[in-house]
Amino acid sequence: MPELPEVETVVRDLRPQLTGRRLIAIHSSKAQLRRHWPIRAIRHLIQARIASLHRRGKWIVVLCDDGQGIRFHLGMTGQLTVVPGSEPLPDHLHWWAELDNGYQWRFRDIRRFGSVEWFAHGQEALAELDRKLGPEPLNLPSGHLKAVAAQSQRCLKAVLLDQTIIAGVGNIYADEALFEAALHPARLARSLQTSEWDRLQRAVRRVLRRAIAARGSTIRNYVGGSGLQGRYQQRLNVYGREGLPCLHCGHPIVRQYLAGRSTHYCAYCQR
Ligand SMILES: [Zn+2]
Repeated sequence: MPELPEVETVVRDLRPQLTGRRLIAIHSSKAQLRRHWPIRAIRHLIQARIASLHRRGKWIVVLCDDGQGIRFHLGMTGQLTVVPGSEPLPDHLHWWAELDNGYQWRFRDIRRFGSVEWFAHGQEALAELDRKLGPEPLNLPSGHLKAVAAQSQRCLKAVLLDQTIIAGVGNIYADEALFEAALHPARLARSLQTSEWDRLQRAVRRVLRRAIAARGSTIRNYVGGSGLQGRYQQRLNVYGREGLPCLHCGHPIVRQYLAGRSTHYCAYCQR
């Protein structure tokens, strides 16, 4: 499932291709996505010019210069790309827009857990996310994790996955950040020292920055906005490496269910 680094890569790829472009036509498939795409939205959006693209957590919000907005979630297998209009339409294409330069902006989603939504007032799409999501992990105020989670009875894995604590971290980068911080994913949040909270917060930021630099991780179907795969899957320390030797100590990586998710860690490096 695409997490913050993958979604950020899509936005960075799409920004130069979409900004300033006008929407000429919009098509949608009959298949239901996670949220309803109103057909009347098409009438409102024709001739609108794209002004800016934003990422918040794992969401993408596109604002038009007349104030309308389109919000995307990639779900598990969503792919958002801009390609020449002459390219044949692929299968599992659920929404696509023709641009004024002959290109097409396409949303393809095999498993259909993703969504495309229309907002008459695009700022409302962002405001709604601000109300329900915690802050962005790349610029957290210092001491944030400790301040919001130090009393929590939950384990660290559950804390990192909680989108109201920080936005955009999912299973892959939660496991990687805990390895980087040398903290056991089952540790109870309330048992952490201040220095451990600081270490974890720094590790989250470092892992996400590194993954963005590598254009994210392609585990299943993820591609960036230019259609290119990510490279960070080659640099994962624990995620997806069950039974393989830890790259630091050589002990086998363990997989265990925690917070309802498959969790990977080194029992030797992460105490
Ligand atoms: Zn190890």
